[in-house]
Amino acid sequence: MRMDTVIMGGGLSALACGISLAKRGKRVTIVASGQSTMLFNGGSMELLGCIDGKPVEKPLEAIATLPQNHPYSKIGADRIAAISERVKLLFSDSGIEMTGSANANHWRITPMGVAKPAWLTLNDHLRIDDLNNLPAKHLALMCVRGFFDVPNAMLAQGLRELGFEVDMIEFTTDDITSLRRSPSEMRATSLAKRLVSNHALQRVADQLNSLAGEADMVLMPSVFGQNDSSDFQTLQNMTRKPLRLVATLPPSVAGMRMMTQLRHYFRMLGGTYLMGDTAVSGTFEGDKLTSVTTAKLGDMPLKADNFVLATGSFVSRGLRADYERIYEPVLGVDVVADNDRERWTSFGVLQPQAYFGYGVATDEQLRCLKNGKPIQNLRAIGSVLSGHDPVKMGDGTGVSLITAIAAADHIRENK
Ligand SMILES: Cc1cc2nc3c(=O)[nH]c(=O)nc-3n(C[C@H](O)[C@H](O)[C@H](O)COP(=O)(O)OP(=O)(O)OC[C@H]3O[C@@H](n4cnc5c(N)ncnc54)[C@H](O)[C@@H]3O)c2cc1C
Repeated sequence: MRMDTVIMGGGLSALACGISLAKRGKRVTIVASGQSTMLFNGGSMELLGCIDGKPVEKPLEAIATLPQNHPYSKIGADRIAAISERVKLLFSDSGIEMTGSANANHWRITPMGVAKPAWLTLNDHLRIDDLNNLPAKHLALMCVRGFFDVPNAMLAQGLRELGFEVDMIEFTTDDITSLRRSPSEMRATSLAKRLVSNHALQRVADQLNSLAGEADMVLMPSVFGQNDSSDFQTLQNMTRKPLRLVATLPPSVAGMRMMTQLRHYFRMLGGTYLMGDTAVSGTFEGDKLTSVTTAKLGDMPLKADNFVLATGSFVSRGLRADYERIYEPVLGVDVVADNDRERWTSFGVLQPQAYFGYGVATDEQLRCLKNGKPIQNLRAIGSVLSGHDPVKMGDGTGVSLITAIAAADHIRENK
């Protein structure tokens, strides 16, 4: 069947673009080869967190100062302001409850206890709007006995440095203890599967209620809700004090849950999500892409009016490097990268790494370039794009969401 749009890649950018198009009645297929980088997500979206090593307070204002090659500069601050409101709607329509504003960053807390600027944070996660006016004075940090995915002492130290009074309280329940028979099971995802019944949640709540002492807020690792936030809500209703979650090390339950909710909403809108298939090549006619071949569909290529490349960066294999070059492996579109491989990386893991900024080249309408010329019906979105750096600039999820919706708009406008 011929589709309106085929999207290659199954991460945040692919789903945001797919939902945006499917909502307007377009027939969309997403080809998704594997897990996405949302496995690393700590329950927040970042629009723009850092410029020249300094935290950004007002992302929309700061976007106007970004270099011309940044994906945001191709869209413009005014359109980004409007799209940022549509992102919030897309999340709430998908059942994902997040709070925040593109006008002013708030602070999210990493598992290491570091406060980082954020745009949107899940309502059940700890969020700080103003570092001089903390949401609680005294925290009970509930540490699950034997749990691997939060370095509790570092987290507590970081929270104390921010000005919280923190009690570290170790606890367990029968349900949790039974997981400990295998040490490798003490991971966030295993706990999320185990702590689902009202009985299991009540046993956690009993511990929180009896151990939280004088604290005015209870902090738990983010191990609740594989599919939605109802397990957290149940636990909060059983707990006498306000309860907030804090991000764990990967794999992130919150990130996986958001992906499940987005996928569910996309399918509800009529979208087709080909899980576990990989786009392997494309056929071009003149300045257009006419079809994409996938590993599983073999000699039945996917034909469409429009295509979107959302295959992610190196970690997702949307970009690849060999000894000679950095390249985009599916369609062979143009990539912005240093030719000299000596410049790809810097010595020292904490040094800025040039390769984070490498990616696919596009024109102003996010159309991919091939041999310097735009492919009229092929757009690139998300972390496969060049010109941004999620680590240095804290713009990863923002670029994915904003370019996804901007590309969907271009596709619809060009009809
Ligand atoms: C370790 C790490 C930590 C991060 N932490 C943060 C953070 O704290 N905050 C933040 O804002 N951003 C962070 N980011 C960046 C953020 O995760 C991404 O910018 C954003 O989620 C990327 O979404 P995406 O859809 O563009 O790409 P991805 O999430 O990479 O998804 C690409 C998808 O495409 C699939 N794919 C690849 N090739 C093919 C193919 N040929 N055919 C079909 N499918 C294919 C992959 O399997 C994957 O599912 C982090 C990234 C990493 C790697």
